[in-house]
Amino acid sequence: MTDSITGLPGFEDFLSQAGAVICCEDKQFLIAAMDISDFHYINTECGYDTGDMVLHCFAETLMMIVPNIIIGCRSHSDHFIALIGVENIDSERVTRETKRLAGVLKDIISKNTHGISPDINVGLYYLRKGESNIVAAVDKANIARRTCKGNYNLPCVIFSEHLMDIKENSAKILPIFDDSFRNESIRVYLQPKISSETKKVMGAEALSRLVDANGKVIPPSKFIAALEKSGKIIDLDFYVLTFVCKLIRKWLDAGIEPIVISFNLSRLHFYSCTLVDDLKTLVEKFNVPPQYLEIEVTESMFFEASEPIVSKINALRDYGFKVSVDDFGTGYSSLSLIGILPVDVVKLDKSFVKESLKSERGNELMKGLIRILNEIHLEIVCEGVETQEEENIVSSYGCREIQGYLYDRPIPSDEFEDKYLK
Ligand code: C2E
Ligand code: CA
Ligand code: CA
Repeated sequence: MTDSITGLPGFEDFLSQAGAVICCEDKQFLIAAMDISDFHYINTECGYDTGDMVLHCFAETLMMIVPNIIIGCRSHSDHFIALIGVENIDSERVTRETKRLAGVLKDIISKNTHGISPDINVGLYYLRKGESNIVAAVDKANIARRTCKGNYNLPCVIFSEHLMDIKENSAKILPIFDDSFRNESIRVYLQPKISSETKKVMGAEALSRLVDANGKVIPPSKFIAALEKSGKIIDLDFYVLTFVCKLIRKWLDAGIEPIVISFNLSRLHFYSCTLVDDLKTLVEKFNVPPQYLEIEVTESMFFEASEPIVSKINALRDYGFKVSVDDFGTGYSSLSLIGILPVDVVKLDKSFVKESLKSERGNELMKGLIRILNEIHLEIVCEGVETQEEENIVSSYGCREIQGYLYDRPIPSDEFEDKYLK
């Protein structure tokens, strides 16, 4: 059966036609599984007709610009699958081309939705010569696609057996999170932000840790993605903010002048219409002045810069929270957006800082960027500074706030108090 929205074959037809092709032809094949991040957002913001139009254009573009595409289908909702013939396995080239494709698709979606520019998640699986189980191959491409989600640095993920471990990890991590959340045993560490001029602490970022049954600390790289996929990240972020509010309350009661503590807010929060009220209620419960709190939102979220997101950020800033753009420079930066976004702080991502410092051009770019950010009066924090030399360079470019192992790793809050507030 043909899909009425896209004109592509239905999933069952795809499976039988693609299955026949891979059995008969002695070629190398690739399965691509794709979806549009937060597609429901387009439906709710722009209406279902626009949603349908986006799916139609997506399919048309896909079939038109992917070389050697043999057959494509919309498996359901905003999920697309394609069988592609390849000459040889050249992962770098495939990644490059996928990135280009994702860029084109994003542009098309943006044109149809007046500015919503979601990420395109692409998972790829190379069929081995003679491999004939098309259903298993599609599953593997989908596993790779899901790994891509929420991972803004990755244009696509190519399936490897290692991803199966990650999938299993997800199944293990969620019960640990549920238990820790219920027992209130999630740890919240603080990492200082230090002035490169005075060496004094200017603020800190709150970062979470889980602890397994053996008392071993589990880092965020092992649980954030799973929590984002399951939506539980919302609970985690409120947990962290509650912890931070209690801490600031304690400092105020003890007559200690608090420093500004930043916390991460996953972009999932911004789909909730009660976000602003929920945050205010929490802060008011502990009677914490909002100027001691800074919300870190990732750069990729601002990429949409859609009205609902911007108005929530405005409301939060009007209330008194500081807002920072996190992970700036991780791939989709748009300098022009920074000029119009309602933020106070830009945090240069550690990978961007490291990459830039490697070459003369990178150095010039970073210097120029920091100069511009200073000119428009944004605070700048350099993340991931590990050596004195790195600090010297970025501070000579005009970045005066440093968050990195050069000074400290994220540490438990009591240790932080001893070290920085006494
Ligand atoms: P992030 O927000 O970019 O936080 C900074 C990360 O960089 C932290 O990793 C920190 O330990 C690490 N880092 C800081 N300085 C250096 C350095 O000099 N060298 C190196 N190699 N790394 C440095 P961490 O704590 O593992 O957190 C990883 C990410 O997990 C965070 O990245 C953030 O995106 C996410 N995350 C952590 N806790 C939370 C949370 O409670 N809620 C949400 N939504 N995300 C969280
Ligand atoms: Ca952060
Ligand atoms: Ca960051």
